[in-house]
Amino acid sequence: MQGHMMFQPLLISSLIKHAERYHGDTAIISKNTDGTITKTDWTHISENSKRFANALSALGLKESDRVATIAWNNHRHLESWYAISGSGFVCHTINPRLFPEQLVFIINDAQDKVVLFDKTFLPLIKGVKSHTPHVEHFIYLGAYDQNVADAVPNVKFYDVLIAEQSSEFEWPSFDETTASSLCYTSGTTGNPKGALYSHRSTLLHTYAICLPDSLNLSAHDVMLPVVPMFHVNAWGTPYAAAMVGATLVLPGPGLDGASLVELIDEFKVTVALGVPTIWQGLLAAAKQSGSRLESMKRNVVGGSACPPAMMAAFKNSYQCETIHAWGMTETSPLGSANQLKAKHSLLSEDEKFKLRLSQGRPPFGVDLRITDQENGTHVLANDGHTSGNLQIRGHWIIDSYLGKSSSALTSDGWFDTGDIATLDEDGYLTLSDRSKDLIKSGGEWISSVELENIAMGHPDIAMAAVIAATHPKWDERPVVIAIKTPNSQITEQQLLDYYSDKVAKWQIPDKVVFVDAIPLTGTGKMLKRDLREQYGHVLLN
Ligand code: AMP
Repeated sequence: MQGHMMFQPLLISSLIKHAERYHGDTAIISKNTDGTITKTDWTHISENSKRFANALSALGLKESDRVATIAWNNHRHLESWYAISGSGFVCHTINPRLFPEQLVFIINDAQDKVVLFDKTFLPLIKGVKSHTPHVEHFIYLGAYDQNVADAVPNVKFYDVLIAEQSSEFEWPSFDETTASSLCYTSGTTGNPKGALYSHRSTLLHTYAICLPDSLNLSAHDVMLPVVPMFHVNAWGTPYAAAMVGATLVLPGPGLDGASLVELIDEFKVTVALGVPTIWQGLLAAAKQSGSRLESMKRNVVGGSACPPAMMAAFKNSYQCETIHAWGMTETSPLGSANQLKAKHSLLSEDEKFKLRLSQGRPPFGVDLRITDQENGTHVLANDGHTSGNLQIRGHWIIDSYLGKSSSALTSDGWFDTGDIATLDEDGYLTLSDRSKDLIKSGGEWISSVELENIAMGHPDIAMAAVIAATHPKWDERPVVIAIKTPNSQITEQQLLDYYSDKVAKWQIPDKVVFVDAIPLTGTGKMLKRDLREQYGHVLLN
């Protein structure tokens, strides 16, 4: 017997309808590519998304056609997202920081029909245009601009298109498992691969990230997604903000610390989200300007491990609680978030801090396990110290990559993340490394992340990566690649000595190389592969 309750497909259009109906006057703040600020609200975002949906339908697109965006976090990008997915097309967010060849590869792999772009990316569009034969329309996200018209023949202008259209549009209804958006993995190994989300997976993920034990989002919040909309859909924040009726502050291209401090203070941001390298810049800028970041109650750190010194700085200097979260492009992204349980209130502040440094526990809707590194389906104990392959399954986890007929899962239906981790009995996840970043010294594993955290806890170190360098006797030994803070005189020996009471003697790195810059991936992670290529042999001479 079936239940006698209404069935409504879980569609992304329902989010924007809800935001317009119940939170229409809630502000949306957008920093534009030219540095000006647009203040709008959910009513106007919704109306423009319907205008753009009319414009897209006038282009004659068919269901599930891919419409790509190469854009910052701004209001036009937000409107176009709802228009594209809400109409039944696939919103393909492209990371502009990829190499041009990778960009061409993914535009062609996705067979994008339309490409929307911000002014910043005009040179990039000029470069890839002749290599992307499937693209039928380029749309510039702005008002008519003669330079753009000269540079890209037949380009269309977003502001012109929506001005011609009515804000009356009936969002179509369709199967909730229809594809809604597409995001490529950052491609630190091999060619990027497409993760194709559905309306249903997106809606369920949105519910999950809003929960109090996840990111704890509500209509009281002013959210600043520093994480770009092209990096796993800004971790789902543009959807979550519509679901709960929060204000969004969209930072545009200004992701430097000083610009972010200004936005936080001016618009009273309560929660900001980004990768650790962003927070490094923000903390330095706040210190310099003397800002107290008064409105900011929480910041969400993910994408790479949160260094302890960073979490301590937010807590002690700004009374800002850091939520450490873990996820991947293939997991929509939220796989775990760190919030304590009732029983933890009895712990000392030090114990709580230690627990909060872990990547947290899974929300309802996903399940985690760790397995033997040799035999990927043999499940290991959740005892907080046995480490193994981290695997995940759930409502918003990939099952196969775009265009690949083979499953991306283990024989028993789990997705192997490539991360190495422990789980404790409450499900708190602690990542020790990407499997390829672990250092194997004389048959013993050393965590590069732990050694990086120690280096970054030194007041004279701004950023540090630890890599496995080839060693004639031990196979691999850790080497620190570090950037000093301005004016620091720290020596190699002083940094090595700093490790002496923090790790076992055999885990102390063999060498420190001081550099001016560490290469980052398009999503702000340290490109350890490049560092390994450059410095992997420094112990051989
Ligand atoms: P991406 O698909 O680009 O988001 O990369 C996903 C990978 O980033 C994961 O598999 C992890 O290796 C890493 N990652 C994400 N969040 C964290 C975190 N909180 N701590 C450590 N590594 C993380």
